[in-house]
Amino acid sequence: MAEAPEPIRNPEIKYTQIFINNEYVKSESGKTFKTLNPCTGEPICEVQEGDKADVDKAVAAAKAAFKRGSPWRRMDASNRGLLLLKLCDLIEKEATYLASLETLDCGKPYKAAYGEIGFSVNVLRYYAGWADKIEGKTIPVDGDFFCYTRHEPVGLCGQIIPWNYPIPMFVWKIAPALACGNVCIIKPAEQTPLTALYLGHLIKEAGFPPGVVNIVPGYGPTAGAAISSHKDINKVAFTGSTDIGQVVMEAAAKSNLKRCSLELGGKSPNVIFADADIELAVEEAHEAVMTNMGQCCVAGSRTYVQDTIYEEFVKKSAERAKRRKVGDPFDASTENGPQIDETQHNKILALIKSGQSEGANLMCGGVRKGDKGYFVEPTVFANVTDNMRIAKEEIFGPVQQIIKFHDMEEVIERANTTHYGLGAAIFTRDINKAMTFTNSVDAGTVWVNSYNNVFPQSPFGGFKMSGIGRELGEYGLQEYTEIKNVLIKIPQKNS
Ligand code: ADP
Repeated sequence: MAEAPEPIRNPEIKYTQIFINNEYVKSESGKTFKTLNPCTGEPICEVQEGDKADVDKAVAAAKAAFKRGSPWRRMDASNRGLLLLKLCDLIEKEATYLASLETLDCGKPYKAAYGEIGFSVNVLRYYAGWADKIEGKTIPVDGDFFCYTRHEPVGLCGQIIPWNYPIPMFVWKIAPALACGNVCIIKPAEQTPLTALYLGHLIKEAGFPPGVVNIVPGYGPTAGAAISSHKDINKVAFTGSTDIGQVVMEAAAKSNLKRCSLELGGKSPNVIFADADIELAVEEAHEAVMTNMGQCCVAGSRTYVQDTIYEEFVKKSAERAKRRKVGDPFDASTENGPQIDETQHNKILALIKSGQSEGANLMCGGVRKGDKGYFVEPTVFANVTDNMRIAKEEIFGPVQQIIKFHDMEEVIERANTTHYGLGAAIFTRDINKAMTFTNSVDAGTVWVNSYNNVFPQSPFGGFKMSGIGRELGEYGLQEYTEIKNVLIKIPQKNS
């Protein structure tokens, strides 16, 4: 998409109710919850609070939409693709409004929010193209059989998403699911329900039949748990913390062994060799951990720097962090807005304190900014060692840990000494170093001389406790189909 136009600073809040069967409805309990502006900590509006009864209603709607013979089941696959393309057009038309609403509810810089909408549209278009290309195989089995596979939709997909990238996460979930012919019950994070609810209206306008996409805002232990433990939901897709991923998978197993894909946390190593382009590496390593205020599962939050360039790298990184502009997310020059909420804000400040008390050198930042909202000064720590909490735990804030290493074997070993495995990167001009590292590191995505580039066409997900399954690309489709093997006996004598 083109440059972001001027934002709408006070976007009108149009949809705050639960979206079921293409209609906005109140919660069964009559309860509501507040969504807050992270710049001020003050409420933006009340949102209907979904719970088990509302998830049950959404499941009933989704079941009816998925029933054999329903308009959705009878729709040609190519028409499913066309509906997704229609949705892209509608989202693009409303990109300024949606990005403004996202900035208000989530606190992310408007320019970034606008860019994420462009990316989300690209993901939807990519999967729209797949809708009529979900193909099985014909298989030459022994004997007189015609054998083929059908890739059928899994059915009712429960999708639980986080607050850090509300629109992209919504789209990463629904786009492959709908391309494959599934129906969705999606729960946005309680911190950021507004853009998801607005997308409901666009989904209806695009022409998706009622019940195909249902959106239930609410809290994790109530609405989220009702999804992961529901006996009639066939699959749960979750993005969030590793702790809650374990809870979701347990609930999925205990209820009905529903299929489960998880995209979880990380503590991704970003390794800078002395032969790298230092200016590039400093900037990329800075963005790798500061982008989205550090609220990024794949943040390059362990910056390993070779000993011979360590001091220079630390100095340049601290200078860069001091220049990072923190402030009003609607301002075009702002690089960092506030953290999402008080809980995250306090957790980040506590981890910063732990870094100081465990002996890391605080080069800059380390404190909250201002006295309103949840802003944190971009922070850089040097002389960090692998055993410190800031080097082991996911901080989810604008805090860079710069760690010294000496050689390749050592850094591979140390990079892999974590139960996470989401991302990794290496900066070097030496192809042999790059190949050794990319082949050896435990990570779902490895970047060479860049960080954080994600594409609709290529897979994203984690090794080890960073998740199960992949999103995006052709691999992402595998999470949303069941494979049916059909064996037709061919009679030897035809009468
Ligand atoms: P974070 O710690 O970054 O807020 P969470 O993993 O807590 O991330 O939340 C991600 C999503 O998971 C949110 O939509 C949240 O409401 C949901 N969630 C939280 N707890 C549960 C739970 N027990 N069961 C299902 N979903 C949950």
